[in-house]
Amino acid sequence: MTIEEQLIEYAKQGKLVTHKCTKCGYLHLSTAYYCLKCGSQGFEDVVLDGAGTIATYTIITVAPAGFEKYTPYAFVVMKLDDSDLRISGFMAGIATPEDLPIGTKAKITGFEDGCGIIIKKQ
Ligand SMILES: [Zn+2]
Repeated sequence: MTIEEQLIEYAKQGKLVTHKCTKCGYLHLSTAYYCLKCGSQGFEDVVLDGAGTIATYTIITVAPAGFEKYTPYAFVVMKLDDSDLRISGFMAGIATPEDLPIGTKAKITGFEDGCGIIIKKQ
């Protein structure tokens, strides 16, 4: 299973697989190839609950191909509850900033091929 397939499998269960450095314990997204803190390439998988708060986002009103059914939507960056990690995904049905205040509780709910991680309000 590739790293991307693994990410998708866990996203479909509402979880996020991360890479924890076996040398210093620093947590990374699973796409990291070496530790940003100590440079080690030894990682172990740590699966986190995919819940967090909205850190920032961009509202998209003109959909790229594949996103039509979700538009308007927001391309969001969510900070995970259990770490300082931030992941990006998309949230359907967001038209104005009033729809999604910064700090809104959200969680991973799935994965859409061609679009990415699906994030919904909690
Ligand atoms: Zn490290």
